[in-house]
Amino acid sequence: MKKVIIVGAGIGGLVSAIKLKHHGYDVTVIEKNERIGGKINQIKKDGFTFDMGPTIVMMPELYDEVFKYVGKDPNDYFTKTQLSPTNNIYFSLEDKVEVNTDLVQIAKIFEGMNEKEASGYLSYIDDIYERYVVSNEHILEKTSNKLSSIFNPKTLWDGFKLKTFDNTSHSVSKIAQSDHLRKLLSFQTLFIGISPYSRPSNYSANPMIETLYGIWFFKGGMYGYIQGLEKLMNEMGIKIITNTTVDEIFITNGQAKGVVIGEDIFCADIVINNTDFPYAMKNLVKNEKHRPRYTNKKLEKMDYSSSAFMMYLGLDLKLDHLNVHNSYLSSDFEGNIKDIFSATLPKTPSMYFYVPSKLDPSLAPANHEALYILVPVPSLKGVTQSWDKSFIQNFRKVVLNRIASENMIENLEDHIVSETILTPKDWESEVHAHYGATFGLAPTRRLSNDFRPQPKFKGIQHFYHTGSSIHLGAGIPIVMMNAQLCVNEVLKHDPNGEPNACSVYSKEYENA
Ligand SMILES: Cc1cc2nc3c(=O)[nH]c(=O)nc-3n(C[C@H](O)[C@H](O)[C@H](O)COP(=O)(O)OP(=O)(O)OC[C@H]3O[C@@H](n4cnc5c(N)ncnc54)[C@H](O)[C@@H]3O)c2cc1C
Repeated sequence: MKKVIIVGAGIGGLVSAIKLKHHGYDVTVIEKNERIGGKINQIKKDGFTFDMGPTIVMMPELYDEVFKYVGKDPNDYFTKTQLSPTNNIYFSLEDKVEVNTDLVQIAKIFEGMNEKEASGYLSYIDDIYERYVVSNEHILEKTSNKLSSIFNPKTLWDGFKLKTFDNTSHSVSKIAQSDHLRKLLSFQTLFIGISPYSRPSNYSANPMIETLYGIWFFKGGMYGYIQGLEKLMNEMGIKIITNTTVDEIFITNGQAKGVVIGEDIFCADIVINNTDFPYAMKNLVKNEKHRPRYTNKKLEKMDYSSSAFMMYLGLDLKLDHLNVHNSYLSSDFEGNIKDIFSATLPKTPSMYFYVPSKLDPSLAPANHEALYILVPVPSLKGVTQSWDKSFIQNFRKVVLNRIASENMIENLEDHIVSETILTPKDWESEVHAHYGATFGLAPTRRLSNDFRPQPKFKGIQHFYHTGSSIHLGAGIPIVMMNAQLCVNEVLKHDPNGEPNACSVYSKEYENA
């Protein structure tokens, strides 16, 4: 039985661990933090429970898939319900669109704006659906390290159909007449760290997926799903070592042979990295000779997604006027996005509110609410501000003033009984997101599909990667598909069998 060490217990690492264990490998996951889940995590404070990172559950069949893969019923591990409406989108307090999965209802909303808008919306659904099918069939399902597979007539035609040479905003403006509909169909990219004005448009499928397949909610919040995975991993006998930081990947003779932790080397036949790829290159593969495509200089030149300023507020009131998911778009939407992607803090930020205690009362004390506020902000690349205490307090004021001036939540400050703030610096230190870029490397044209780092690492044998900065990109369902690609590569290049003899071994990690 071959030994696999997975560095990092983010969703990519967990899904890979479960699938490889199912294929008979001896799997150990090593995580620096106290709890598994990576960015999918939990903050428990003052009687409130907050999801730390992701909140929106799309494509629920992918969340089920890992349980089905190992012959288990997902319903024995976590509970999910479909939301309706899915999302409130505010252009101003009086100007709100309540998105749901009922096409008749949606058509009515847009007919109310202008009949052309309803037809624009339906054309958008049709257009994106076609691209989504192409994307699933031809691009998502393969990995490639060969140029011939990138530039062949088939992939170029697929790229044309996917409109990977266009940006989201331009694609949308061809079908949507009004400013409202344009924003509505493009703003989601902002909440996955991408500008709708300058990136390939194959990342604009979210509104279509939301309408046709719905948005779901897990009991206990997003972390309820991680607890389901943890239960399964324990049942399967996967070793999970927490509170342990890997210092280096042990590489010798062009092969990954294990990991270094402090003075010890822990041997493995296969090493899978689930930490953020640029962080891993810089910090875990220390010798640049092993990574000529990813030298420190080249890593600095790459494009990074934006980051997120987070407020987790316990409130002593109920937020009856809000949905579970609510997005407030800046009146200066375009300027706001330009700021974020040119290393400038937004003055009138767009923001997203998540109130899971509306659906799961166990997440807040009675008559209280757990409110999560996400404000997209620049990553740390190229910014001059330090996110020190006084800077944080100033930006906190900007956010609270905007909420007060638009009366999104009446007298919010008077009702805060618990408060936690996370900044790009915290994302960098907590989960080692390089530059605090919460969604990893940005999926720009030069970092998309085959041009993105791949699950199998070229030049070092037995070394694989899974996670947001790897092909296929960020977002939980996407990273779960990427984990499957990583598993496929391991099965192909390192089939299970007798373990290699460990040449260096100073401690039994099984007993750690
Ligand atoms: C604020 C926010 C909101 C989001 N919203 C959504 C959403 O609504 N829906 C959605 O689908 N996606 C969302 N995402 C994206 C999604 O969370 C990520 O794409 C996904 O969770 C990343 O998983 P990953 O496998 O790349 O690992 P990560 O979550 O990045 O985990 C990597 C793990 O490696 C560990 N690690 C790092 N260095 C070491 C080391 N040296 N030794 C040991 N362990 C180490 C880290 O502690 C971490 O646990 C959001 C992300 C953020 C931050």
